[in-house]
Amino acid sequence: MECIFCRIVKKEIPCHRVYEDDKVLAFLDINPLAKGHTLVIPKKHTYKLEDLEEEDAKALLMATYKLAPKVCSAMKSPASTIAINNGRESGQEIEHLHIHIIPRFRNDGGGPIHAIMRYRPNISREEMNRIVKQIREA
Ligand code: AMP
Ligand code: ZN
Repeated sequence: MECIFCRIVKKEIPCHRVYEDDKVLAFLDINPLAKGHTLVIPKKHTYKLEDLEEEDAKALLMATYKLAPKVCSAMKSPASTIAINNGRESGQEIEHLHIHIIPRFRNDGGGPIHAIMRYRPNISREEMNRIVKQIREA
């Protein structure tokens, strides 16, 4: 599979690179939601988080762990939203896994993750118990 982010990894397409190691690349989002909006990607083409090999998952999370505070201090932002659109149905447009690091400010006009869904399901206590069972057994 060859996608636009694979081409960025191969340096066939330019990017504003902020970090790179043997497993991970981080670069500025071309259509930023805030100054410093950064994408952290595994170098190996992977669609969703669960498709990552464990070593790549560790490297991706470690890079995000180290980068997020740097992005915030560079942008002088007191907070960040760190998020993955994990699969097409969630809004993932580029089908190469990427973690968004978005610097956030008080009154920046953005919302919390809870603003993603317009409607919330009404779930009884019995159903919560069923759900926990299903997840544990999966
Ligand atoms: P998502 O909706 O989570 O798949 O987000 C894809 C992100 O990739 C968007 O925020 C785009 O602005 C960003 N993007 C697309 N093409 C490029 C590119 N060539 N360089 C940097 N960011 C890109
Ligand atoms: Zn790719």
